[in-house]
Amino acid sequence: AKDPGVFLPRAVTDAAFTYVKPGTHNIEKAKLLAVSEAAMRDLGLKLEEKDTDEFKEVVIGNKIYEEHFPWAQVYGGYQFGEWAGQLGDGRAISIFEATNPATGVRYEVQLKGAGRTPFSRFADGMAVLRSSVREFLVSEALNALSIPTTRALSLTLFPNEGVRRETIEQRAIVARMAPTWIRFGNFDIHRRRGNRKLLKALADYSIDEVYGGLDKIKASDPKAYEGLSRYHIFYKEVARRTAETTALWQTYGFMNGVLNTDNISIFGLSLDFGPFAFMDTYNPMYTPNHDDHRLRYSYRNTPTIMWWNLVRLGEDLAELFAAESEEFVNSEQFIESGIPEDKLDAFVERAEKIIEGVGEYYKETLEAAHSKAFVKRLGLTSVKKDDSADGIVDSVLLLLKEQQLDFNHFFRKLGRVRLFPGDGEDESSLTTEEDIKKIFLTHDRGYSVPHIDDSAKIIHDWLFNEYKSRLVEEGNVNDSDRKSRMDKVNPNFILRTWIMDEAINRIQRHGDAKFLEHVLYLALHPFEDSWTSEEEDKDKYEAEMKFIGDV
Ligand code: AMP
Ligand code: MG
Ligand code: MG
Repeated sequence: AKDPGVFLPRAVTDAAFTYVKPGTHNIEKAKLLAVSEAAMRDLGLKLEEKDTDEFKEVVIGNKIYEEHFPWAQVYGGYQFGEWAGQLGDGRAISIFEATNPATGVRYEVQLKGAGRTPFSRFADGMAVLRSSVREFLVSEALNALSIPTTRALSLTLFPNEGVRRETIEQRAIVARMAPTWIRFGNFDIHRRRGNRKLLKALADYSIDEVYGGLDKIKASDPKAYEGLSRYHIFYKEVARRTAETTALWQTYGFMNGVLNTDNISIFGLSLDFGPFAFMDTYNPMYTPNHDDHRLRYSYRNTPTIMWWNLVRLGEDLAELFAAESEEFVNSEQFIESGIPEDKLDAFVERAEKIIEGVGEYYKETLEAAHSKAFVKRLGLTSVKKDDSADGIVDSVLLLLKEQQLDFNHFFRKLGRVRLFPGDGEDESSLTTEEDIKKIFLTHDRGYSVPHIDDSAKIIHDWLFNEYKSRLVEEGNVNDSDRKSRMDKVNPNFILRTWIMDEAINRIQRHGDAKFLEHVLYLALHPFEDSWTSEEEDKDKYEAEMKFIGDV
């Protein structure tokens, strides 16, 4: 099927990107609200550089380096299951690429909200404060949890520039960075337009430039890639990365909310942050997207929908799988005329076989990664077959669901539970049902969280039967060792929606970015017990966080 393209103010065909210049601003009117120290470091910048005029000019698009002309990418996408045609970077402009000499990681730096591009369609190319704060914070929060993601370097506000949405909102620009911004949608668009030349070029660019070459890919799982052809290996590797990231989202209760193919990274990164959320009280049916009436992007459906997206990518790549097989024409002629009529059946059969095989691999990888990350959150040190299917992971999720417990705080608190007497202690040191009420069923502000009458008993039973026996089986009978393992993977701080709302409101209403800075600190240091780096402010911030309810 051809891309209709008829509704487009400007269809960009036969190209993977266009050059486009960001608009410029009066630097006096731009307010640098926050900079991520972690992103500065990963990009290879010194922290002091954030106070320079040059930094400020770069992150708002004023300063363009001569050797890099800024660009915007064309992509399409399947949105809510339907082909949506050309989308593209409508409010994002890439300004340069840079490799951190210390780590060898290359980043493509991009400005979100820097003005119109050929892909803006009928919109203004601007970003508002609200979505910018959310993207800025969650990028860095996910990274701090070791979940692969695109990153955010800085957040700049233009307090005097209004952007028309439902109301007039303040304008902002996020400078963000990622090893690549290529999405499944970049492949979708060329396939839908039947452009084999660009499809192949994009696949080759992804393999050689983004992934660093076929040999590097093969090294990630040598056995899985043995004997496979080039594009098959590439497809399988994308599936592997997608599975691992999806497993981590599930393990930490993160939901993107709009898992359309234009929002799915070719590099397994969390990407495109709209109505995302971290799970509060565990409910597998939860979707953070209010328009998602069919729960397509709910917690529970996430692994399936990610596979659905991978099938679209497999279809995009199908002709390349054929072109590299000896049964088909493997030449310039293929680029011109595609699969010969008489070979179509064999072509379809081959593509289906590859996609199916990669599907099995996706499933295996996802399950293994999910069990591995989840048992860590439980303080366990071994994985058993079927842990995720009907083992300990399944049983703890059932407990969370039935007792309506907070998905993330449960695990942090689980580290505090006493299941084994220490040296010179007796059974009286162990956690009782009364303790459980305090630990799991009482809000730190003092009131009880809603729960059913025998919650404490049910949780106690789970702890001292299922959980404890698994720990004994592993020989992990020291509570404090277990706690220190668990505190490294179970965050004390989770970037909840209302915390971001509070940060946004304080900026919008009072021009106060201090709270944002504080939330950024927490997002960057989620495993620390303390809520702040500044000792003298500790009590104040703890009180504030408790006030907004993150306990
Ligand atoms: P999203 O819903 O963020 O996945 O975006 C879907 C498409 O709409 C992408 O091509 C975006 O670049 C484009 N888009 C969203 N908002 C704007 C805007 N304010 N100006 C221009 N393009 C936009
Ligand atoms: Mg998108
Ligand atoms: Mg978006």
